[in-house]
Amino acid sequence: MSAFTLLATDGDARAGVVHTAHGDVPTPAFMPVGTKGSVKSVDPDELHTLGASIVLGNAYHLHFRPGEDLIAELGGLHAFMAWDGPILTDSGGFQVFSLRDTVLEADDDGVTFRSVYDGRQERFTPELAARIQERLGSDIAMCLDICAPAGVERADLEQAVRRTTLWAGRQRDLPRSPGQLRFAITQGGLDTELRRRSSEELVPLDFDGYAIGGLSVGEERAPMFEATAHAASFLPATKPRYFMGIGDPEGVIEVIARGVDMFDCVLPTRTARTGSALTWDGRLNLRNARFARDAGPLDDGCACPACTRFTRAYIRHLVNQQEILGLRLLSLHNLRFLIDLVAAARRAIERGGFETWRADALSRLTRQPLER
Ligand SMILES: [Zn+2]
Repeated sequence: MSAFTLLATDGDARAGVVHTAHGDVPTPAFMPVGTKGSVKSVDPDELHTLGASIVLGNAYHLHFRPGEDLIAELGGLHAFMAWDGPILTDSGGFQVFSLRDTVLEADDDGVTFRSVYDGRQERFTPELAARIQERLGSDIAMCLDICAPAGVERADLEQAVRRTTLWAGRQRDLPRSPGQLRFAITQGGLDTELRRRSSEELVPLDFDGYAIGGLSVGEERAPMFEATAHAASFLPATKPRYFMGIGDPEGVIEVIARGVDMFDCVLPTRTARTGSALTWDGRLNLRNARFARDAGPLDDGCACPACTRFTRAYIRHLVNQQEILGLRLLSLHNLRFLIDLVAAARRAIERGGFETWRADALSRLTRQPLER
């Protein structure tokens, strides 16, 4: 069976289902990030209740702590973290190349770097990336790629595209865990010609899905969305498309509009840990004194545990006193807000009303918050 069913399109926006060994993922799908095998401060049962259908784990971090062999010995990542739904694992390429001062040497065979954990010299290759993810037993494994930062020379982007293809070709047929899907990552930054080349090289290798990598790495938003549209247009309609690393409400809507099916970001939980809530009135910093006597919920109409039981005033108090509950409630709310937003986008695509929904959602999100 194909890994993806496309159910509806509206303009370039798509609604579908990714079929994995641990269940179906309705798309568009936001994937909460559990870098080290935990979506920070959130219980897997809560993730189910929030409506999350897939979570992301990270091969780089799990390889170094506690190690894929230990996790395999304890039944694999699903059993280890007590999450029985689909898991996508990143290959570690993004971590290696985003921690640039730790990279010692990259060549056609792999990349040598210093571990962020103990500074020891380590080496990642496509073979190791495949083995780590096979041992973890994730449902979707990513190919090791080279993610160039924004603004590098074209020759460096070209090198990133060439090596990413070379490595994907080596990783494609290596052993995988039962039912594990394998996605390749397209590169090329903002360069349309290189994005086309990357896709034209990877699509014939017939992966189960394709990621759009090398964006959201510090470039301006308008050209990034333009590059997303190009990158998506070079990919087959029959395979899922995953934009790596976007999670702000406006950004999520914009990549869905350009034909992206899946995306991930630490933004909801990281924003929560800074004391901020994502809402239809924009981003609220709960430390602000204007919330001291605010008896309303974080967001009207939100059904999360924070909004149904607690006031802005109380959550502000918890944040200011650095109470763990405050950060947890904000994490639960922010995840629910994004998951609900994406579910609403999906319904709009299915009924053919995505453009109207998008315009309305963007105008609500960017409106100045009312003083209350
Ligand atoms: Zn809420």
